[in-house]
Amino acid sequence: MRRLPSSVCSPSSHRLNPVTSMATGSNSLIWFRKGLRVHDNPALEHASKASSGSMYPVFVIDPRYMEPDPSAFSPGSSRAGVNRIRFLLESLKDLDSGLKKLGSRLLVLRGEPGEVLVRCLREWKVKRLCFEYDTDPYYQALDFKVKEYASSVGVEVFSPVSHTLFNPTDIIQKNGGKAPLSYQSFLKIAGEPSCAESELLMSYSSLPPIGDVGSIGVSEVPKLEELGYREDEQDEWTPFRGGESEALERLTKSISDKAWVANFEKPKGDPSALLKPATTVLSPYLKFGCLSSRYFYQCLQRVYKDMKKHTSPPVSLLGQLLWREFFYTTAFGTRNFDKMKGNPICKQIPWKEDHDMLAAWRDGKTGYPWIDAIMVQLLKWGWMHHLARHSVACFLTRGDLFIHWEQGRDVFERLLIDSDWAINNGNWMWLSCSSFFYQYNRIYSPVSFGKKYDPEGKYIRHFLPVLKDMPKQYIYEPWTAPLSVQTKAKCIVGKDYPKPMVMHDAASKECKRKMGEAYALNKKMNGNIGDDDLKDLRRKLETDEESNIRNQRPKLN
Ligand code: FAD
Repeated sequence: MRRLPSSVCSPSSHRLNPVTSMATGSNSLIWFRKGLRVHDNPALEHASKASSGSMYPVFVIDPRYMEPDPSAFSPGSSRAGVNRIRFLLESLKDLDSGLKKLGSRLLVLRGEPGEVLVRCLREWKVKRLCFEYDTDPYYQALDFKVKEYASSVGVEVFSPVSHTLFNPTDIIQKNGGKAPLSYQSFLKIAGEPSCAESELLMSYSSLPPIGDVGSIGVSEVPKLEELGYREDEQDEWTPFRGGESEALERLTKSISDKAWVANFEKPKGDPSALLKPATTVLSPYLKFGCLSSRYFYQCLQRVYKDMKKHTSPPVSLLGQLLWREFFYTTAFGTRNFDKMKGNPICKQIPWKEDHDMLAAWRDGKTGYPWIDAIMVQLLKWGWMHHLARHSVACFLTRGDLFIHWEQGRDVFERLLIDSDWAINNGNWMWLSCSSFFYQYNRIYSPVSFGKKYDPEGKYIRHFLPVLKDMPKQYIYEPWTAPLSVQTKAKCIVGKDYPKPMVMHDAASKECKRKMGEAYALNKKMNGNIGDDDLKDLRRKLETDEESNIRNQRPKLN
C-alpha cells in the first residue's frame, strides 16, 4: 500500500455509519456510485480487508439515470445529457483498468440499484458491504433501504464520509442543529478538516480477488452504443475526458504552477478563456469522485506552505473547495433545498411561466450573443466558467426574463458534466437572489460584462459561428449594426440570428421592481407566504407591467 504522508481522515469522519462488527476473512462488496477512484477511497480500503475472502467491486447501471429518453430536449436520458453519461462511462472504464492493474475488476450490473444489491449480497454471501456516504436525497432514501436489509441479515455496513472534507452532520451539530447560512460563519464553525494532517492511502500493491459471480449477470463497462446512444448524436462532445487518471493529471498540472495557485482570485478569472480555462476544471472529477477532495485539499496546503504569499478564502482556490463544502452542508441541513416552496431559506417570488422564453434561453437563442454563446458552450461542453454561469442564471431569473430558478436549474442539472445536486441548487438560489445573496439591484449586463474580458468577441465567434464575421464593435449587440454591415457579415439579425428577446435596460428595470415588491411581501409576511398571496402578487405585477408598457409608448397628438 502506498500512503501519502499523513492516511485517511480520522475516524470522526466515519462516525455517521460506524463499523458494526469486525467480519474479517469473509466476502466483501464495494459499491461504487460516486467515489470512482482508487486513491483515498476509505470504502474501498475497508472492503479490501477481506483477507481470506473475495472482494466484489460493483457498479449498477441505474435505468432511472441512464436509459435513453427520446422525448428529452437534448440527447441523453430523462435526467442526464449524453455528455455526462459518456463522462461517467469513461470514468468507469478508467476505474476498471485501475482495479485490473491490482488483480481485481469492476463488475457492472443493471437494474434498480437496491434490488440488484440485495441479490448480490445474497448470492455472493457477502459479509461486509462498503459504500461512500452520500448526502443527496436520492441516495439517502436508497441507502436507508439497503442498510436496513443488510443489518437484518447480519451484513456489516461501512459507509464513510469521503466525498467532502467535512461531515455535514458534524458541522450542523456544532452549529446547534442548523446549517450555517453564510460562508463566513461556515468557515468559523468548520475550522480545519480532520483530514488536513492525515495520511491518505493513494494506492495498493494488490486487491483481493473477485469471487465466483454465480448466476448474477455481470458485464464489462458498456460502450455508449450499448446503452442505446449514438456517437453522432452530439455534433461536438465535451473536450474533458472522464476518469481518475485524467483527474490526477489535471490536478498535477494545475498545482505545478505554484504561482498560479498562490495568486488565484476567482473574481479576476476570465470567463471567456477557451483554450486554457481560467480555473482548474476539476468540478466534473470532484462530482463523480474521480478526484478526492481531501487529496486536492492537501495538495493546495502544500503549495501554500511553499509560497510565502497567497490568496485566501473566499477567492482563493482553497476557498473554492470550501464553497463546495458550504453548499453541501446547507443542502444537507435544509428541508426542500431544491424547491422554492416549503424551503425555509428561500424567498417566495412570483416568477413567470413562459415556456417559449425558457426554450429560447436554453437553446441559445435570446439574441444576446454573450448569453447565447454561454448556453451553446453548456450544450456542447457541459462546462462553463463560474462567471459565465452567473451571467446566464442572472439573465434567466432576476436580471431580464424573470423565469423561475428551478427551471434554469433543471437545464443545468441535465447538461452540466459537473451537475451536482447541492452545488447547483445552492448557486441557482444565490444567483436568483432567492437565498444567500440579496442585492437584486446588482445585475449583470448581457452586453458589457462579457465585453470587459473579451472585446474582440473571440468566445462568441467560437460558439456562434454565424457571428464570426460581425465586426467587433457590433459583436455584443449585432442588432445595432447597419443592414449593410449585417449583409457583409452574412448575418442578418432576425433571419440568421435572433433579434434580442427583451431590451435589457427596460427588462432589468422591470425585474428590479418585481423583486422589490416580492421582497417587501416576504418581509411583511415574515416568510409565511401562501400560494394565494403569490398569485395575487403575480397578478398585480403583471397589471403594473402592462400599464408601464402602455405609459412608455409615445403619445400621438
Ligand atoms: P475552480 O474555480 O477551479 O474551483 C475548484 C473546485 O471548487 C470546483 O471544481 C468546485 O468543486 C468547487 N467550486 C468552485 N466554485 C464553487 C461554487 N461557487 N460553489 C461550490 N463549489 C465551487 N459547480 C458544480 O460543481 N456543479 C454544479 O452543478 C454547479 N452548478 C452551478 C450553477 C450556477 C448557476 C452557478 C453560478 C455555479 C454553479 N457551480 C456548480 C459552481 C461553479 O461554477 C463550478 O464549480 C466551477 O465553475 C467549476 O469549475 P472549476 O472546477 O474550474 O472551478
